[in-house]
Amino acid sequence: MSLNPKLIRKDFPIFQKNDNLIYFDSAATSQKPIQVIEAVADFYRKFNANVHRGVYRLSVEATEAYEGSRRKVAQFINAANSREVVFVRNTTEALNLVAHSIGINQMKKGGKIVLTMMEHHSNIVPWQLVSKIMNHRIEYIPFDGEGYLDLSVADKILRDADVFSFVHASNVLGTVNDVKLLCRMAHDHGALAVVDAAQSVPHMPVDVRDIGCDFLAFSGHKMLGPTGIGVLYGRYELLDGMEPFMGGGEMIKEVHLDRSVWNDVPWKFEAGTPNIAGAVGLGAAVDYLRGLGMENVRTHEHMLTAKALELLAELKHVKIYGPENPKHRCGLVAFNLGDIHPHDLATYLDNHGICVRAGHHCAMPIHTRLGLSASTRASFFVYNTVEELEIFQEVLKKAVKFFKLA
Ligand code: PMP
Repeated sequence: MSLNPKLIRKDFPIFQKNDNLIYFDSAATSQKPIQVIEAVADFYRKFNANVHRGVYRLSVEATEAYEGSRRKVAQFINAANSREVVFVRNTTEALNLVAHSIGINQMKKGGKIVLTMMEHHSNIVPWQLVSKIMNHRIEYIPFDGEGYLDLSVADKILRDADVFSFVHASNVLGTVNDVKLLCRMAHDHGALAVVDAAQSVPHMPVDVRDIGCDFLAFSGHKMLGPTGIGVLYGRYELLDGMEPFMGGGEMIKEVHLDRSVWNDVPWKFEAGTPNIAGAVGLGAAVDYLRGLGMENVRTHEHMLTAKALELLAELKHVKIYGPENPKHRCGLVAFNLGDIHPHDLATYLDNHGICVRAGHHCAMPIHTRLGLSASTRASFFVYNTVEELEIFQEVLKKAVKFFKLA
């Protein structure tokens, strides 16, 4: 079934306020449908209380709403057990949790971590932090000129690795990696497989059991949900054997002056009062996306990406990064237009009602590898249309004249 973005737009108050708004920055954060906004507001209106603590009815209802969202998220990614879903703030926190708990508490000093050269900073810096403390080595699998991982060198690089952490869909190149294969390669080398799914869970069907990953991280705000809520999926046995990342209330069973006993999984990783309303909003976002159907979401974005690549390629001065085949891409395109600085181009587009991202998109190593300091990125979601892409192309043509590209 194909999606009807014009109908979908009616659910998003931001487009009611400005129907001409062309929002091409969903890879940074998505817009929110009324169903999510209302779920958050309704929680505060009707159910607000702290979770897991109170014996009174309101607190039981708040706990049920919070834990109900955990079950929805678990089903959405096909986790075997909802206790494999840990609520965190975002992908960044999820990856920091894994890096800290595995990298410091489980790996021996001088261990080996393998990443790829197409990682977002949030899947590089946490590993650098723990490596500094533990003297671990970090090695990177490179990508080729078209933006595909160079798997010919992967086996050599993965030798003796303890952890292999990699992105599912690149937020700059758009490449969708074969994560099932990458997980298998990690396991063949006895390494844990960690997936940064920030750009995949919102946009395509993701099944953690089919992928075979050990950990998978994503953010609510990129999938129509609120900011400040994200997910770390982890296999139960692994989470159970891990030390907590943060200490405090909620994450303990007993506290004595000289020792404490941790709570069960997943609560031992959720120190302090959690983002209860955020989790409830994420549950509503999951309902919304399931209602659309993730296969349909993927098909719609594939259609938009193919069209964007086609329209951009018609422009003389454009340089597009990442795979040529739209089937291997997620719904975003990073490019440069002649020597126009991406910040100037993004400002020009903004003056014409089009929101795009400009800069290094928190992926400096990708830009360094491409010999760039910055790029302009257009990213798409369920509320974007072909008509918007056509306007985008027209405005880019005007920009070519405005910036006097030869
Ligand atoms: N990984 C990737 C691939 C991303 O695109 C992003 C967000 N740009 C992140 C991680 C970090 O997400 P967050 O800022 O929500 O933690």
